[in-house]
Amino acid sequence: MKERSNMKYSEYPYERINLDEARQNMSSWLTRFNSAESSGEQIAVLKEVDESSREYSSYQAIASLNFNKNINDDEAKAEKEYYDNIGPEYMKIHNELDKAVNTSQFKEELAAEWGETFLKQIEMDLKTFDPDIVEMLKEETELRNRYTQKIGGAQIEFKGEAYNLAGLGPFHKDKSREVRKESYQARFKWFEENGEFFDELYDKLVKLRHKIATTLGFENFVELGYMRMSRSDYGSKEVANFRKQIVDHVVPVVKKLNQQRKEILGLDHLYFYDGINFREGDPTPKGTPDELVERAQKMYHELSKETGEFFDIMVNEDLMDLVNRDGKMAGGFCTAFPKYERPYIFSNFNGTDHDITVLTHEAGHAFQCYSSRKQPLSSYLWPTMESAEIHSMSMEFFTWPWMKEFFKEETDRFKYKHISGSLSFLPYGACVDHFQHWVFENPDATPKERKEKWLELESIYLPDRDYDDIAYAKSGGLWQGQLHIYQMPFYYIDYTLAQTCAFQFWMKNEEDSDQAWEDYYRLCQAGGSLPFTGLVELAGLELPFNDGCLEKVVGKVTNWLESIDVSAL
Ligand code: ZN
Repeated sequence: MKERSNMKYSEYPYERINLDEARQNMSSWLTRFNSAESSGEQIAVLKEVDESSREYSSYQAIASLNFNKNINDDEAKAEKEYYDNIGPEYMKIHNELDKAVNTSQFKEELAAEWGETFLKQIEMDLKTFDPDIVEMLKEETELRNRYTQKIGGAQIEFKGEAYNLAGLGPFHKDKSREVRKESYQARFKWFEENGEFFDELYDKLVKLRHKIATTLGFENFVELGYMRMSRSDYGSKEVANFRKQIVDHVVPVVKKLNQQRKEILGLDHLYFYDGINFREGDPTPKGTPDELVERAQKMYHELSKETGEFFDIMVNEDLMDLVNRDGKMAGGFCTAFPKYERPYIFSNFNGTDHDITVLTHEAGHAFQCYSSRKQPLSSYLWPTMESAEIHSMSMEFFTWPWMKEFFKEETDRFKYKHISGSLSFLPYGACVDHFQHWVFENPDATPKERKEKWLELESIYLPDRDYDDIAYAKSGGLWQGQLHIYQMPFYYIDYTLAQTCAFQFWMKNEEDSDQAWEDYYRLCQAGGSLPFTGLVELAGLELPFNDGCLEKVVGKVTNWLESIDVSAL
């Protein structure tokens, strides 16, 4: 691989990939591939294809990122739409090559070169795509974009000012109960006013995805959804068993934690909007965004040589857009430009402890991607999502020794909140996953039935939840704010699987930090060269699906929580 210059993000060359050219290139690659007389010739062709894929995904990532940076920029919107439009056609072009690889007489040699994962990915790509579904894929992208536009464009009146959803966030965590409640009322009023939009949009997405699945020969969208997530090593049965472990072992602990929180807050009853941990409010980072980044840079230098080098690059090459502003898409994510061997971090700092979690969580994703940059195939730069979240969630724990640099006298509070919050998240994550299984197993359910199902599942996974008189949430509409449900079906259990692994890294790090880091770095470098179960094994962790794994992890976490004198926090 050629060495890249240290360009800043704004200096990256960008262009529109021309589809006709892409078709012509593919046709000559195909001819060469099919007439190859040795595995070496086929490997050479696939390497060239991979180079061009790196180029395509880099330009597409730039187009998408620029739009996220400013959703009101028409030029950026046009570039994103261009890539959205050609995406399915581009898949169609590559579909021909996938077929050729899948029937290659040199399959064994290809597997010897790149491992089985490469071939498994192609098998799944072939099952999830057919030229017949191109138009439906375009429609799906268009519907998903409608969701993003709506959420990104939200203007919510609150206390005489207009906020977007991210901007309203800090009020949900205010120390004043009234402010918390009113801000949630404002949020849900907006969702209620747009309720028909969100109901109809989801209904269309569900029916469309069902149709795509049946066109491809699946019974419903569930199995297809798993394959789209590139899960080759487990299915919905394993996931259902994992959710059951959450109900058995985590829900009772969360009930106790809620009881403890009620006492800390001095309240008679906990409502949904009482999602803070301390009377004075949740811990906040001390310092301006620039100061926080400076401290993060120092932290990553002290954590390891590799993270120091990585974070210097992120800073020096302008590979982070961190602070919330008008017109910026909500949320946080990490993307990457394989052609330039660089990741990018996008977030919306808003003065809450979440700002620091972004600097550790998204930096975990980015560090993994950077560490995998020498993987031979661009499809190996990222692992599947449940594995990718191990990197990010574990990085949140590896940086614990430096949290005092950010939270000062509130450090212990942050740690308590971090651990108890991570544990309390598991039932919500399982609830979102269970809901989606039901939705796609019952594609003809009405919007009202979906909301009722959501409430039924909440009573299993989140039995303490009480929305008070916030009507829209009470009627089962909360999930409409969870973008994964619209955008990336079945991407959510990933966080709970990864959290179970991240807790294991946390435990390991407490016992032997050198060994823990060595295991973690090995995992980061492996990228997506193995499926989830293979990566978990490579990292020396126990597989979350195994009976007893979650129980053991929860036991250790509970011990730690019980050792904390909350009255002294
Ligand atoms: Zn993540």
